[in-house]
Amino acid sequence: MSISHETRMQKKKAVVDEKIAAAQEERGVLLVNTGNGKGKSSAAFGVVARALGHGLQVAVVQFVKGRSDTGEEAFFRTQPGVRWHVGGEGFTWETQDKERDARAAQAAWQVACGYLADPAIGLVVLDEMTYAFKYGWLDLPEVLAKLAARPSLQHVIITGRAAPDALRDAADTVSEIGNEKHAFQAGVKAMPGLDW
Ligand code: ATP
Ligand code: MG
Repeated sequence: MSISHETRMQKKKAVVDEKIAAAQEERGVLLVNTGNGKGKSSAAFGVVARALGHGLQVAVVQFVKGRSDTGEEAFFRTQPGVRWHVGGEGFTWETQDKERDARAAQAAWQVACGYLADPAIGLVVLDEMTYAFKYGWLDLPEVLAKLAARPSLQHVIITGRAAPDALRDAADTVSEIGNEKHAFQAGVKAMPGLDW
């Protein structure tokens, strides 16, 4: 005898309701958006819009300056609830100067530390921060300690490929975004309004 669709849905609802009732804790959450697929930074900026809609104050610190004319920067800089910082003196992948890149990442981290100590900031986005660990520009244990000591209701989103295991372990929510395919691989240019 097959169970009716209605019975199955009722069972499913009971399970979901139970999980919702069990999740009672309210606190700041640490998210990591990593992996090789597209959507790590843009998902974080989606949350920035969501947070602003709820009246939260938001800080964005970008650790790698890919380009200075992104749509998200142009838009969010017009929003009064947003502080926007581009790492250090604006290093890029092209600098080939390890010392300068390290200094720029450390300068960006100092800016981030100010926000991670400020309970008035409800959301901090540390965009492309994972590269700072990959290249040894920042000390991961020091960063983890600072994240752990942040204000209790503050959310943090860290983006970038190849997040280190210790960061994944410290995070509450980790999204590994996979690359099934990307238009760039088929020869499509990075398109304004879609890719930057
Ligand atoms: P987005 O900012 O679009 O969410 P992302 O943060 O996931 O992308 P990054 O690694 O930061 O990805 O890459 C920055 C740029 O490279 C963006 O223009 C993005 O669209 C593009 N990109 C992301 N993933 C891929 C991919 N798998 N292949 C080619 N280009 C990519
Ligand atoms: Mg990104």
